Amino acid sequence: MIAAPVGEPAGPWTSGWSYGARHEGGLVFTTAMPSTEYHALLRAKVDARSDLVCTTHPLNYRAGTWEMLRIASKDVGPNDKVMVIRATIHGDEISGAMSILNYFDELVGYAHQRSLKLVLYPLGNPSGFDHRLRYNVDHHMGEGNNDFLRYVMDDGSIESDLGPGRPSTPWTIANDAALGIDLPEESRVMLELVQRDPLSQVVAAFDWHQDLVTDLPMCAYHYAFGDLARYGEIAARISEVVPLLAGYDMAGGFGEQIDDQGSVVPHTDGVAVRSDANGFIVRHDGSFSDFYQHIGATHSVATETTGATPMELACLVNWIWFTGVVDLLTSA
Ligand SMILES: [Zn+2]
Repeated sequence: MIAAPVGEPAGPWTSGWSYGARHEGGLVFTTAMPSTEYHALLRAKVDARSDLVCTTHPLNYRAGTWEMLRIASKDVGPNDKVMVIRATIHGDEISGAMSILNYFDELVGYAHQRSLKLVLYPLGNPSGFDHRLRYNVDHHMGEGNNDFLRYVMDDGSIESDLGPGRPSTPWTIANDAALGIDLPEESRVMLELVQRDPLSQVVAAFDWHQDLVTDLPMCAYHYAFGDLARYGEIAARISEVVPLLAGYDMAGGFGEQIDDQGSVVPHTDGVAVRSDANGFIVRHDGSFSDFYQHIGATHSVATETTGATPMELACLVNWIWFTGVVDLLTSA
C-alpha cells in the first residue's frame, strides 16, 4: 500500500543542526499515563516558573468530567507575536502531548528568549487519552473532533473539506450557531477558548498528531500551507531522524466512522491527497491548521509521525519543527 519506498533515516547527519543535550540525554516520558497525572506533571512545571499562567476548563461527558488545560505566556502585550501549539486532539496519539511534557522548559525558554509568546493546549482530548481512543469517552465523534470551520460555496452549500484546492472560498467557524454542527465536547470547548485568544497576534500554529490510522513504517509527514520551500531546512533535519513520506496518496484520517467501542472502522474510500518529495500535504480540510492559515498565521503546520516511529523520535520531530519555525520567525 506504500506508493513510494520508505527506508531508513537518510543520515549521516549533515544539516549541521545541533540536536542538543535533550537528544543525547534521552526523553523521560515515552508511555501513556492518566490525564490527571499528565496535567499534574505539567502544572508542577508551570508552577516552578514565573513566566506562565495556567487555566483549566471542564469537559462534560455522559461518562464524567475531564479537564482541558491551557498554558500561556504571562503578560501577552498587544504587540507581541504568539505561537499556538495544540497536541493530542486524537486521544490515542500521545506523542504530541509527550513532546510538550518532555521538552517543556526548553520549549518555553526557546520561545521566550526570542520574545515569542506561547499559548499551549497540551492535551486536546483528555478522555480519549485516558481510554486510548481517537475520539472521546462517550464515543461521540460528531463530524470529527479536529473540527474548526466550514466553507460556504458559491451555490450556498456548506463543505468541510476542499481537498488540495480552492482555498479562497468564504468560510465560517464551526461553532457558528447558524450551522448547527454537532461538535464533540472537546471540540466545542477548544473553539470557545481559541476565540478568546489574541488571534490577530498568532503568527504560528502547530497541531501535533501521530498517524495511528495507516500501517506505514517509521516516517514523518506534514500538513502545511503557503510557500513550502521555506521549510526545506526543517525537512532536511527531520530526514536525519526519520524518513520523510514522499509521493504517498494520503487519505488516512478523512471520512472516518467509529464502531460502538470507539475504534476507527478501516476504510479505503476517502479522498486522497499526494505528499510531495519532503512529505508535505496541502489540504483545506476545515481543521485546526486550516483555521490558523485562514486567520493569517504565517506558519500553520500539522505534524505527523507514524505509530511505528519510536516515541523519542516522534517527539524529536516535533522539537525540530518547533525550533525551526521559531527560528524562521525570529531570525531576520
Ligand atoms: Zn491525529
